[in-house]
Amino acid sequence: MAGANEWSNWAGNQKAKAARVATPQSASEVVEVLRAAADDGLTVKAVGSGHSFTPAAVTDGVLIKPTGLTRLKQIDKEAGLVTVESGMPLHQLNALLAENGLALTNMGDIQVQTVAGAIGTGTHGTGRTSGSIAAQVAALELVLAGGEIVNCSPEQNAELFQAARLGVGAVGYVTAVTFRTEPAFLLTAREEPMRLDAVLDGFDDLVADNEHFEFYWFPYTDRTNIKRNNRATGPAAPLSGFRHWMDDEFLSNSVFGAAQRLARTAPRLTRTVQKVSGSALSARTYTDRSDKVFTSPRRVKFVEMEYAIPRAAFVEVFREVTRTINASSWNVNFPIEVRVVPGDDLWLSTAHGRETAYIACHMYQGTRFDEYFKAVEQIFTAHEGRPHWGKMHTRDAEYLGKTYPRFEDFLGVRDRVDPKRLFANEYTRRVFGE
Ligand SMILES: Cc1cc2nc3c(=O)[nH]c(=O)nc-3n(C[C@H](O)[C@H](O)[C@H](O)COP(=O)(O)OP(=O)(O)OC[C@H]3O[C@@H](n4cnc5c(N)ncnc54)[C@H](O)[C@@H]3O)c2cc1C
Repeated sequence: MAGANEWSNWAGNQKAKAARVATPQSASEVVEVLRAAADDGLTVKAVGSGHSFTPAAVTDGVLIKPTGLTRLKQIDKEAGLVTVESGMPLHQLNALLAENGLALTNMGDIQVQTVAGAIGTGTHGTGRTSGSIAAQVAALELVLAGGEIVNCSPEQNAELFQAARLGVGAVGYVTAVTFRTEPAFLLTAREEPMRLDAVLDGFDDLVADNEHFEFYWFPYTDRTNIKRNNRATGPAAPLSGFRHWMDDEFLSNSVFGAAQRLARTAPRLTRTVQKVSGSALSARTYTDRSDKVFTSPRRVKFVEMEYAIPRAAFVEVFREVTRTINASSWNVNFPIEVRVVPGDDLWLSTAHGRETAYIACHMYQGTRFDEYFKAVEQIFTAHEGRPHWGKMHTRDAEYLGKTYPRFEDFLGVRDRVDPKRLFANEYTRRVFGE
């Protein structure tokens, strides 16, 4: 059994043994935790729900758990502004917003992350005009290394806001997040198989014609499953309980998980599993509350690398990825996921200043990913790819500094607010430098 100070992430590929663990219940308790750590010469790291694949939350200093800070602080329905404490999980936020007739504009494919963890690494979904969760943040409250509790927004401490709303845990301890929400809405999801060539040839139209377009490609096959989510006036027509269980629990989790375990034991079966998986999910259409359409349970454990590349280069890059995988001897056992977002202005956003396509490569937990991830990373970095801050990659500050035009500005804010690097760990030293 893990000791009280031992921690590992969801995927099990990152572990930490902290000097001590703290669970503050308020911003002033966070101040005390930071002061005590500094007095003892320890560093501090916040952890959310441990859903990053990178060592972003790993520490041998003080590990701050999020569970003491999960309350609603303020809600202004008229303005759509909702302030919650930083450790609130997204599913709790979504339920709270729904009760009040509000919703986030866009989100990723799961909702178990904490709000601070999700924004801290740039968690995103797919959207023609709507971007990441951090792009929906209107203001933050955080505790700086020196113990000051500060508020920031585009109008107040604007540079700190830019750095901290997507700060990979390196700028301060975020205690509260204010979201800019909108009136609750329904989405109609249309999911269906499509040949890969048809998707790539029609990619620009598929993105332009849908508010939220994404697809999964099944390696070694010409099969994809495409998903189009668009706003609907209603009425809601959710999947029946049985169909939901069959597709999202039984096929996508139980059967897929069993097939992955089989392929892990007998890797030569991987290509057959991909073919069967590519044909298993049939077309379906349903209309439901936005967060229920955006997210679904992901119980089959995996590790993941995801890169953001300029949209303009996507089709060329993706064809190179498919050629490389098909010609390889690797047993790529998970589908490859593609999403898009518009360019934004967040300093460390993977979509900063450019229309972006994301290519996400997953491998079942416990199977070999090293050669595969290394080869696709080379393709991505040859096209100015930016790695997701929470997903596996090998980039360092020298590379990242060249791909983010505001990288130096970010480092400048960090120097100002954390000169002694209270919030440093091995990961921040690699990606931001000492
Ligand atoms: C099954 C699965 C599905 C996923 N789906 C998506 C997806 O659809 N889209 C996507 O973009 N990503 C996705 N991810 C990645 C995930 O959203 C990010 O890694 C996210 O950061 C995880 O949030 P968390 O709460 O687990 O934070 P953690 O991983 O625990 O922490 C992430 C970072 O945030 C910092 N942090 C946490 N709390 C605070 C705080 N209070 N103050 C300051 N810093 C803090 C940590 O120090 C760390 O640097 C997925 C991951 C998994 C495992």
